[in-house]
Amino acid sequence: KNSQGNYEVTLIPGDGIGPEISRSVERIFSAAQVPISWESVDVTPVLRDGKTVIPDEALHSILRTKIALKGPLATPIGKGHVSLNLTLRRTFNLYANVRPCKSVPGFATHYSNVDTVLIRENTEGEYSGIEHEVVGGVMQSIKLITRPASERVARFAFAHAIATGRNHVTVVHKANIMKLSDGLFLQACQEVAKDFPQVQFDEVLLDRACLQIVQDPAQYANTVMVMPNLYGDILSDMCAGLIGGLGLTPSGNIGRDASIFESVHGTGPDIAGLDKANPTALLLSSCMMLRHMNLNSFADRIESAALSTIAEGKAITADLGGKASNTQFTDAIISKL
Ligand code: NAD
Repeated sequence: KNSQGNYEVTLIPGDGIGPEISRSVERIFSAAQVPISWESVDVTPVLRDGKTVIPDEALHSILRTKIALKGPLATPIGKGHVSLNLTLRRTFNLYANVRPCKSVPGFATHYSNVDTVLIRENTEGEYSGIEHEVVGGVMQSIKLITRPASERVARFAFAHAIATGRNHVTVVHKANIMKLSDGLFLQACQEVAKDFPQVQFDEVLLDRACLQIVQDPAQYANTVMVMPNLYGDILSDMCAGLIGGLGLTPSGNIGRDASIFESVHGTGPDIAGLDKANPTALLLSSCMMLRHMNLNSFADRIESAALSTIAEGKAITADLGGKASNTQFTDAIISKL
């Protein structure tokens, strides 16, 4: 907290539509009198010793506030650059990616009963970045699974299940095929489960989980799914598709040194600067952030104002089938606070 009694939070507006949707969140937070002071930083990457790093100002801000809200970042193309999102993940040890997907009442999609919570291991697995050429025409990519990282994300999943009242954890895996790597992930979850006897625990194969979710997502409405990196990446986008796409889904990266909440969509280069972007994903991410900070009543008020604006359908953005600008949509949410 600063001298005015406000919590300091780092804001990374991001690129493309990022500054527009960040501005919406700032306006809505100010209207709802959320006790937060934003510290806006630029994370345009710098190259140091041939590696992509985050500028010192941004790094120090996040290390100090321990919490950040982030808009989308354009991944620079060119030699030496790795994705900035990956850099942030590694720099702050963001080990668990939390992706909830809940049907928005009044916004019609093929499904009306989606309420999934997915936790993705965020630091290793298929995305360890260890790849090499064995001989010409033969490439190898290493999927790295370690006991400490598996245990850490499993423990977080159980704690999250308790904190959110779900009291059920389902581990999603392919240990029938990848007996050692997924086998270890599964075993770590089974062992952690013993420390949480009050939480129900079960396991499901990834392919079966996909089938069941698209057939009847309600089957997964009372559990927290936890899984290795790649499975979580794909399955979370699939769940997002069931509720109307990436424009509506929030995400949180929980870490050892900080936690960063972000919209999952990209920088929308085709609509950047046109006041057309839908700020909902970033706004719902900011609500997740408020709950992480124990500011639940502010999160509830803002979320219900946003969701009822969407349900009414009078002032929604083009990606949701409406005609409103970002500014008009934001004004409509503010008028409900
Ligand atoms: P994108 O998500 O930016 O765009 C895909 C489509 O969705 C576009 O038509 C866009 O206009 C639309 N869209 C996205 N967000 C929207 C919103 N909030 N409101 C309304 N419409 C929205 O994906 P892309 O075009 O593949 O990627 C563009 C850039 O974003 C690339 O540089 C990519 O690396 C980056 N990216 C960043 C992140 C991140 O920072 N988390 C994630 C994905 C892509």
